[in-house]
Amino acid sequence: MTAIMSPDRAQALPYTHVDDHYIDGVWLKSTGPDRNPVTNPATGQTWGSVPDATEEDIDRAMTAADRAFRTGGWAGRTPSERAPYLLRIAEEIEKRGESLAMTNTLENGSPISETRGAAKNAAEIFRHFATLAPYLEQDDVRAFPNGLGETVVRRDPVGVCVLIAPWNFPINLMVAKLAPALISGCTVVMKPASPTPLSIRFILEAAEAAGIPPGVINLVTGSGQKGELMVKHPAVAKVAFTGSTPVGRHIAAACGELLRPVTLELGGKSSAIVLPDADLEAMSSVLIRTCMRNTGQTCYISTRILAPEARYREVVEMVTSTIATAKQGDPMQEDTVFGPVATKAQYETVLRYLESAHAEGATATTGGKALPGVEGYFIQPTVLADVTPEMTVAREEIFGPVLSILKYTDVDDAIRLANNTGFGLGGTVFSTDPTAALAVADRMDTGSVGLNFFASNHNAPFGGRHDSGLGVEFGIEGLNAYISYKSIHRKTSSTGQNHQIKASTR
Ligand code: NDP
Repeated sequence: MTAIMSPDRAQALPYTHVDDHYIDGVWLKSTGPDRNPVTNPATGQTWGSVPDATEEDIDRAMTAADRAFRTGGWAGRTPSERAPYLLRIAEEIEKRGESLAMTNTLENGSPISETRGAAKNAAEIFRHFATLAPYLEQDDVRAFPNGLGETVVRRDPVGVCVLIAPWNFPINLMVAKLAPALISGCTVVMKPASPTPLSIRFILEAAEAAGIPPGVINLVTGSGQKGELMVKHPAVAKVAFTGSTPVGRHIAAACGELLRPVTLELGGKSSAIVLPDADLEAMSSVLIRTCMRNTGQTCYISTRILAPEARYREVVEMVTSTIATAKQGDPMQEDTVFGPVATKAQYETVLRYLESAHAEGATATTGGKALPGVEGYFIQPTVLADVTPEMTVAREEIFGPVLSILKYTDVDDAIRLANNTGFGLGGTVFSTDPTAALAVADRMDTGSVGLNFFASNHNAPFGGRHDSGLGVEFGIEGLNAYISYKSIHRKTSSTGQNHQIKASTR
């Protein structure tokens, strides 16, 4: 077996084997002996480990967050007073960017260009939410329609939030929850995914250096079952989750039972509709970012390409040559486009999908199997042609470096195919006609659509429909999940007395 990455890459990093959780402003040793390994997917070797939280650890963290919320040191500040902390966290993250990126790459095999980008993006997310302080504290006074008086609308923090993130983007998907929670005045307990528990510690370092008070941000590491204990803890006021649809459903059921608000950012099976006039050369330049970002482990990417019959072979050739010529290899190299998939379980899942594709009649025009003769969880970047809508790979989220190309007859057929997955997260339209592209985007039943590329925008809401989730993150709309509205009704001085008399007469 050839080693694609040298096994000693973790030596220079500050966090490898740790035995503590971050609770009430200090790193506290776990109260139990159980540990979970951290494995480098590029080698298959374990290079770190973290404690699997006990019920006592979880209760301590939840209690610390509850106390910090109730004693008001954070919630009692105005959003404008909290904003500078977020700006300082952003600066402190940037100072730690390289160590954060390397740790993240060793945890999940994301190419280093991706994880360096994640560190920068995390800082940007904190800056973005700092700019929304005026929205939270605006003077929002609304008249009664009948002239009875006026109502002051307050945006209070919702309380203690449990934040649960997956392994594909462990930093950004956590920070997308943490930053709005903080600016709103909430306190949090975070649980990263088991494969990626270490990189998030740099965010805590940054928060500590920025002077965030004890108890406002807490972190426990542990299995999914421990996440469930957090969700069901009596101190929880809100849950924010990104991950798979089955676990999302399970968490939603628990939150429904307990009547706690929940936001869920779940899986997807998004489509890129290539209109007959599309510029395929331009499409090639954004293809990987739009359809196979992070070795295909990105929730919103358009992993089903819908091509018009007349240009089907041309689209297959362009996609095949773009994917086949992108570099796969050591994720620590700046020019690597495809690394390994993040975990052994994910590797086995993706290989099972490839077997099903072969058995059901799809044709791999490049890739199609595990990368032979190498250590770690490398799967060849794969393009599947001759895929039909009923095939398993056309219907289910694969979450690996696999693209399927389907044929459509006319635009109505393309839209029907795109909307027929049960999911509704992302999507893309490729066309040289902006009006036609927008008209197709308007008919796609999904939370976001990109025209000739895809990227998410911190200023705009991001979320899924149907099996892709509930609620949104980002934009002003994303803040609402962390707010509890309070309406304070009062009589206006000029008319109040009369109305009071009228009201009491009735
Ligand atoms: P999961 O949904 O299993 O895990 C996501 C997070 O939830 C992890 O932190 C996990 O912890 C935690 N968790 C698991 N079970 C529970 C529970 N009962 N209560 C509370 N928290 C829980 O996703 P996976 O990471 O296993 O990925 C599986 C599939 O999910 C992928 O193949 C992909 O299809 C999809 N996925 C979608 C993502 C997206 O961005 N939309 C991101 C990641 C995955 P732990 O890791 O310890 O189990």
